[in-house]
Amino acid sequence: DLKAVDTPKQSSKQLHVDSKWSDTTPFASKKKLQSWFQLPDGNWELGTTLRTFGNESLISLADEKVLRVNSETLVPANPDILDGVDDLMQLSYLNEPSVLYNLQYRYNRDMIYTKAGPVLVAINPFKKVSLYGNDFVEAYKRKSLDSPHVYAITDTAMREMIRDEVNQSIIISGESGAGKTETAKIAMQYLAALGGGSGIEKEILKTNPILEAFGNAKTLRNDNSSRFGKLIEIHFSETGKISGAKIQTLVKLRSFALRHKRFRQSVLVNSPELFNVQREKGHIIFFISSVPELQHSLEEALDIVHVKKEDQESVFAMLAAVLWLGNVSFTVVDSENHVEPVVDEGLTNVATLIGCNIEELKLALSSRKMRVGKRNDTIIQKLTLAQAIDTRDALAKSIYSCLFDWLVEQINKSLAVGKRRTGRSISILDIYGFESFERNSFEQFCINYANERLQQHFNRHLFKLEQEEYIQDGIDWAKVDFEDNQACLNLFEKKPLGLQSLLDEESTFPNGTDLSFANKLKQHLSSNPCFRGERGKAFTVCHYAGEVSYDTTGFLEKNRDLLHMDSIQLLSSCTCQLPQAFASSMLVQSEKPVVGALHKSGGADSQKLSVTTKFKGQLFQLMQRLENTTPHFIRCIKPNNFQSPGSYNQGLVLQQLRCCGVLEVVRISRSGFPTRMSHQKFARRYGFLLLDHVASQDPLSVSVAILHQFNILPEMYQVGYTKLFFRTGQIGVLEDTRNRTL
Ligand code: ADP
Ligand code: MG
Repeated sequence: DLKAVDTPKQSSKQLHVDSKWSDTTPFASKKKLQSWFQLPDGNWELGTTLRTFGNESLISLADEKVLRVNSETLVPANPDILDGVDDLMQLSYLNEPSVLYNLQYRYNRDMIYTKAGPVLVAINPFKKVSLYGNDFVEAYKRKSLDSPHVYAITDTAMREMIRDEVNQSIIISGESGAGKTETAKIAMQYLAALGGGSGIEKEILKTNPILEAFGNAKTLRNDNSSRFGKLIEIHFSETGKISGAKIQTLVKLRSFALRHKRFRQSVLVNSPELFNVQREKGHIIFFISSVPELQHSLEEALDIVHVKKEDQESVFAMLAAVLWLGNVSFTVVDSENHVEPVVDEGLTNVATLIGCNIEELKLALSSRKMRVGKRNDTIIQKLTLAQAIDTRDALAKSIYSCLFDWLVEQINKSLAVGKRRTGRSISILDIYGFESFERNSFEQFCINYANERLQQHFNRHLFKLEQEEYIQDGIDWAKVDFEDNQACLNLFEKKPLGLQSLLDEESTFPNGTDLSFANKLKQHLSSNPCFRGERGKAFTVCHYAGEVSYDTTGFLEKNRDLLHMDSIQLLSSCTCQLPQAFASSMLVQSEKPVVGALHKSGGADSQKLSVTTKFKGQLFQLMQRLENTTPHFIRCIKPNNFQSPGSYNQGLVLQQLRCCGVLEVVRISRSGFPTRMSHQKFARRYGFLLLDHVASQDPLSVSVAILHQFNILPEMYQVGYTKLFFRTGQIGVLEDTRNRTL
């Protein structure tokens, strides 16, 4: 019977086409077999089949309830002995309810980590779990503990870095609130414990609160959500001690956090303790409070990474300026809806904080210099309310993002590896995972593209590893199938007819609109199998993790992300040092190839890189760094939306498992020959089960005789030079007989 239970998939390609979960299909509801039954609420419950007649089965559920159901709706459950296995690869059935159940079984016992083949799955406990600290670090270091853990994967990275002399990376993804940043910290703590001693590890750990204070925001899903991707490269000396670090960020998707009212809130609450926040008539009034604890610890952290006191003051001043800018309001001054800023506490504070003249600030926020005519005469155009608000917010966004970049630069200077660089490093990437909402916009478009790239990196790595092992052992490599997502990447990246180039092109057209962009996509990309045009302004992309429909509303504006020259000029005229530095960095950017160059009015907009192009550039830099490393993957899962411990929402977990491709990974791993055993071990373990005498006693002959006796089909295994390779589940029959015989 076990053999029937373990029926392996024939080929991953075929499976992929049929359905995502087709290892459920061959299941015949046999008597007394346990299976999963889906309740109307979508949750799965374990049932025992009592009887089958025709295509109907009688099943009993946990509460003694007996139901008559269509047999085809039942999904096979794994035998009890596999409850809570620490690697999903070990499951005989890899269907959704079985995986969900296995993870839940472990989660309920505070075993928040589970392997999915080469990937570590981490489910956010939303409470303190006693899995960390020195004793655990020691145990993983000595290898006296080997259950799945961030420490274990970090330890492997450390060992492989030293053994293979190859740089390593730990790639952590998951959706907001899933525990990525915590996980990154846990990995860094392990590295600091193993490679500490020089003192620099303390500095590295302190970069977390700093970047969190400036880069995070409170969102619905996470009180402390990072709005950016971060790669921290930790360098080691010859003796394995941490010698320095370098941080690289992936565009803080500005429009992520910074949209009108939400923008103000997000900047504001990123450390609410830092500011006294009051809401009055829809305005938010704030100021840096008189050194509460949080500001103190932030200052301490800034001290540790050697940001000078005077620079710290400028940093807080800039932050306050951004916040005050959010409070600047306008009054209409003429019949054409032109406006002027109200001169109030907000406006005067901004002027003081950045060090500019109030009149110049007023002018920059309410007018635009334009060159017209053949003689390029400068005229001054007044702004309407909507334009003024956009200008104000664009200025605030730019200051904020320059401030963040500046801080990262300071931190990097302080952690600089210096001359004693050995070239050995472990990089930790904390990045937004794949996202699919009801309504998906430009932010999802960018982040899902990044994840598509990461997935390809992952597939190729896995593929390469497998291939190397098969080739080494001389087995038939062609029988292993892998999915690749190159077609989807082409859809994004191809020039001139790809999603990104078409977006950039449309963004440079003065008359381009979100609708004309959507129409162009339909016109040029409809033959791509990963693309589908939708009605109106929408389109659908088939990502590795599923289909996502994007609404192009706002795409062009978010991609252009224009800052007016007037604003840059204002900053460069400031008496304070930071705004001046920001202005020059904006000008450097504007010298590169651009979008937004042609503006209807012929106005002097800063000609910046489009957001898509910048994002792609940073992503490529990041991928280049990762390319030369051996990756280790951690996928974080959020078990509920309330940040509450002990609650496990099957639907929510399932959606994330699908999105982060965890099951796809297990499937890839299982589509080859995942079970491996040396000829010697195989012969020793099962040789005594042989009924007939084997002429030659060499391990290979004994092994082949065993395979024949147990009727293991030729397509289910391969004989390598040193090892036997099996498809999933094949060893089960042998183990079973062995156990019964012993
Ligand atoms: P993300 O970076 O994915 O958005 P975070 O790492 O900020 O998510 O985690 C969100 C919250 O979940 C944390 O503030 C913490 O309260 C909790 N959390 C995450 N991982 C753990 C863990 N391993 N143990 C305890 N709590 C955790
Ligand atoms: Mg985070």
